Amino acid sequence: MNEHTGDIDRLAVMLHESSRIVVFTGAGISTESGIPDFRSPGGLWTKYQPIEFQDFIASEEKRRESWRMKFATESVLADAKPNKGHQAVADLYQQGKLARVITQNIDGLHQISGIPATKIVELHGNATYAKCLDCGKRYELAEIKRQFLQNEIPPVCNVCNGFIKTATISFGQPMPVLEMQEAESETLNCDLFLAIGSSLVVYPAAGFPRLAKQNGSKLVIINRDETGLDDIADLVLHQEIGISLATAVKKSLN
Ligand SMILES: [Zn+2]
Repeated sequence: MNEHTGDIDRLAVMLHESSRIVVFTGAGISTESGIPDFRSPGGLWTKYQPIEFQDFIASEEKRRESWRMKFATESVLADAKPNKGHQAVADLYQQGKLARVITQNIDGLHQISGIPATKIVELHGNATYAKCLDCGKRYELAEIKRQFLQNEIPPVCNVCNGFIKTATISFGQPMPVLEMQEAESETLNCDLFLAIGSSLVVYPAAGFPRLAKQNGSKLVIINRDETGLDDIADLVLHQEIGISLATAVKKSLN
């Protein structure tokens, strides 16, 4: 048995023994679906300067630039499919073991993998649709795109005239209060906290695994590189995510 097999077997046992698992996911789970980590070198945000929330609010030109950028890059998200890692998390849901997915990702791939939206907390929102910043009305991107490409006028809400923005949390935008509360309460109630594909250095998100561990949960980290919390974890796998997690979930059923 090599070292990797041993770690996957240990994870399988922990999955088997757990009944309220929180799965926390970062960009690393989705890079295996071809979605670049937007913050990494070569990522989209090094090519397109991200627009800060205050600038989006203050400037029509910034809103226009934001929508241009959105439609120039949308195919990356539109073409992406869930991979083995997402599917393994969905399998935990099917087994009734998944308390909640808490994700930093904005790609909607957990939903597409078959996990209901009510089981997913999106800390940074969702880039696959848009919302009015004032009344929260949802807008589909196809509808906005059709109008925007005609005149490049940044869209406003047809109910309240508020600015429409992709439903993501931008730089400078406050973290969503309800989502943060839900994430915290699930973290306090879980018996296994599985942190996948996140470097666990960006707060407040990185506080959740620490909180889980302090509250008596086991903590497992799967990430290609070292993370900020490797030293407090019960098990750390520096391995490819999809195949490792899929293997462990399958073994946990035996
Ligand atoms: Zn509105």
